[in-house]
Amino acid sequence: MRQTIIAGNWKMHNDRAAAKELVSGLQDVLAQVGDNREVILCPPYTDLETATTLISKLAHVSVYAQNMFYEEKGAFTGEIAPSMLRELGVKGSIIGHSERRGYFGETNLDTNKKIKTALGHKLRPILCVGENEDQRVNGVMKPWIQMQILEGLQGLSGEDVASIVIAYEPLWAIGTGRTATVEQAQEVCQYIRQVLADAYSKEIADKTPILYGGSVKAANAKDILQQADIDGVLVGGASLKVDEFSQIIKA
Ligand code: PEP
Repeated sequence: MRQTIIAGNWKMHNDRAAAKELVSGLQDVLAQVGDNREVILCPPYTDLETATTLISKLAHVSVYAQNMFYEEKGAFTGEIAPSMLRELGVKGSIIGHSERRGYFGETNLDTNKKIKTALGHKLRPILCVGENEDQRVNGVMKPWIQMQILEGLQGLSGEDVASIVIAYEPLWAIGTGRTATVEQAQEVCQYIRQVLADAYSKEIADKTPILYGGSVKAANAKDILQQADIDGVLVGGASLKVDEFSQIIKA
């Protein structure tokens, strides 16, 4: 049975005091997260240690980074090495979020290198894929997503693929308040599973958790989570509010 994953991407929000307040406010709900479920908090780098300290006694809660570099160390000003994340108790990283791709020019080759380095350091990658509105309207959504997956995962074994998480995040739904309908979200998540089955095997595809992200909130989380191929949600804005994120976790 696949794990249910509720991940919160704080993006560039929350100073240390706000991070403490948010994680402390979630403590009771986080303490009740049951088996085969995981809540993942993805704060900015400067809040990672605060978050890992505050959740250290919680069994099914982890802290992931929002990004990491694919080199081990060196002259890469402004980048963060996987070992630096591990040292803070971080368990994984979002890789290839659309904001990284859009604002910072990350390519599928970059995501591929980052995933390989992450796995080499026992960090679990959450690979983000998704189409923009033009691609959806013009009928090239599926080949685009297929390419993001196949290039992002190139050279990985089936076992590696089953150990990562894939998040389907349509660009037109991120931070816009426009959530995909449950049918649209399920259709693409099912398609992603089919791409994995064709490239690896049905067994690998069935083991790999696939999340939906894009304006998820308390009001729509339950319906989204009931879809057969959706194993969890990646939440941006609503993960910054104790009440909203608590309700999503409980959903
Ligand atoms: C995200 O940042 O991955 C995201 C889905 O954001 P939002 O929930 O705010 O649309």
